[in-house]
Amino acid sequence: MAFIKKKPRERRAHSEFDDLSSATDVVKFANDHGIVCAPLDVSELTKLLGIKMRFEPMDGDESGSLKKEKKTDEWIMTINSLHHPHRQRFTIAHELGHFIQHSVLSDSFEDATFFRNGDMNRMETEANQFAAELLMPEDDFHSAISTGSQKVEDIAEFFHVSSMAVRIRAKSLGYQGHNL
Ligand SMILES: [Zn+2]
Repeated sequence: MAFIKKKPRERRAHSEFDDLSSATDVVKFANDHGIVCAPLDVSELTKLLGIKMRFEPMDGDESGSLKKEKKTDEWIMTINSLHHPHRQRFTIAHELGHFIQHSVLSDSFEDATFFRNGDMNRMETEANQFAAELLMPEDDFHSAISTGSQKVEDIAEFFHVSSMAVRIRAKSLGYQGHNL
């Protein structure tokens, strides 16, 4: 029996994106590359980051996944094609959070229902926070509320996200009311 020395874990290949670490960085990156940012075109952004996207029907609560293919080293994002487009946008943004912040730690992320109370681990909480910041940047959120409608549904339509996502974002930015 021979002992084989394991190769050290390779650094992630997409080094050109290494300086992107926050949602703010990524919004600026999208802006600099001419991607529509109001609301953010998350599919174009995903492609720009070199990630392949697939829309496939999945079981009820499954939202999507992000996995690195071993053979090709390509990142593949799969989104539940049966979900509402607003939910799909949040899933895409959530998976981008994993890609930007966690792809050095793992090469496979599978996501079911977001916003579940309680049992979320740190990476899931971070990916949700990243998604909220990416889809509803703080300054845009404040100006949308101060210049437009105060109704949750209208704000949701403005950012192309769910009402639930708006409520959570509003609460985290210190807004009260609207049954938050
Ligand atoms: Zn996740």
